[in-house]
Amino acid sequence: MFDRSANDKVAANEDEKALTRLLIAILKKETAEQAIHFSHEAIEMYGGSGYIEDFVLPRLLRDAQVLTVWEGTANILGLEVLRLMKKHRVHELFIKQMKWELTGLPEELRDLSERYWKDWKF
Ligand SMILES: Cc1cc2nc3c(=O)[nH]c(=O)nc-3n(C[C@H](O)[C@H](O)[C@H](O)COP(=O)(O)OP(=O)(O)OC[C@H]3O[C@@H](n4cnc5c(N)ncnc54)[C@H](O)[C@@H]3O)c2cc1C
Repeated sequence: MFDRSANDKVAANEDEKALTRLLIAILKKETAEQAIHFSHEAIEMYGGSGYIEDFVLPRLLRDAQVLTVWEGTANILGLEVLRLMKKHRVHELFIKQMKWELTGLPEELRDLSERYWKDWKF
């Protein structure tokens, strides 16, 4: 979907472009925060060796800190999500896409996903 949205020759439709923007905002926020969380966990896993500056992990944690700041903080990405919801009703596209993805689940998990989605009115 990103390739189609970014490639002028194979144009994506407006819904795909909006959904791509939404997914980028969500993924950027989530991966940035998780990078800090997991580099912190990695230091703890290695104990004292993980903490000392001679080891690679303090650098990874320090570098991960910038990920939540540059290219959009969580607040700024949140504003992008609100803009997309207002202008493109992208939340409805997202739910539709997620429902479609869930149809690919193995049979034994179908019941779980149907129970989860049954109250969504989109
Ligand atoms: C190491 C590094 C390299 C960089 N490289 C580049 C580069 O190559 N090119 C480039 O263009 N920029 C670069 N930047 C800049 C980076 O993109 C900005 O620092 C980032 O966008 C945050 O903007 P700001 O620093 O002005 O913080 P601010 O915008 O002042 O944000 C401070 C806080 O206020 C909040 N905030 C701001 N506006 C709102 C709002 N409207 N509503 C609610 N909350 C809000 C933010 O969420 C944040 O928590 C770099 C930054 C760093 C740290």
